[in-house]
Amino acid sequence: MGNITFTMIKPCAVRNGHIGAILDHVSKAGFRIKAVKMMRMSKKEAEAFYAVHKERPFYGELTEFMSSGPIVAAVLEKDNAVLAYRETIGATNPANAAEGTVRKLYAESIQANAVHGSDSDENAAIEAAFFFSQKDIFSKEGEICV
Ligand code: GDP
Repeated sequence: MGNITFTMIKPCAVRNGHIGAILDHVSKAGFRIKAVKMMRMSKKEAEAFYAVHKERPFYGELTEFMSSGPIVAAVLEKDNAVLAYRETIGATNPANAAEGTVRKLYAESIQANAVHGSDSDENAAIEAAFFFSQKDIFSKEGEICV
C-alpha cells in the first residue's frame, strides 16, 4: 500500500467557497499536504486528465464542468492513502455517501461531487505528475521529494 494520493477540489466546491473547509476536513482526517495549487484546466487538459472515462456517456459533460472554473489540486500523504482518502470523501454519488464524508457535506450532484480522489496507487502517481513536478512536492521536513 502506498502512502500518497492525489485530490482535486472541483469547480463547484471552489465556487461555493468550500476550499478552506475541505482542506481543514482533510487535514483533521490525518492527511498531510505535500503539494497544493489552484489553477483552471483547459477543456483539453480536463479531457486528458479524464481520458480513462472517454467512452462513458458523461465524458463531455464532465470535462466541460471540470474546466468551468478553478480547481485546487493537492498531493496528500497518509498510510494507505488511496483507500483512506476514498473513505474520507465518500461514495461518488453524494446520495450514497456516508454521513460526515466530504461528498456528503459539500457535493451538489453525482457530477459536481466536490472532490476527486485517486482510485489506485498507480493512478495517484500519474495524477500527481499531471499537476506537479518533483520540485513542487515536499516531505514532512520541508525538503523537496526527489
Ligand atoms: P470517482 O472515482 O468516485 O470520482 O468516480 P468515477 O471514477 O466513477 O467517475 C469520475 C467522475 O465522473 C466522478 O467523480 C463524477 O464527477 C463523474 N461521474 C461519475 N458518474 C457520473 C454519472 O453517472 N453522471 C455524470 N454526469 N457524472 C458522473
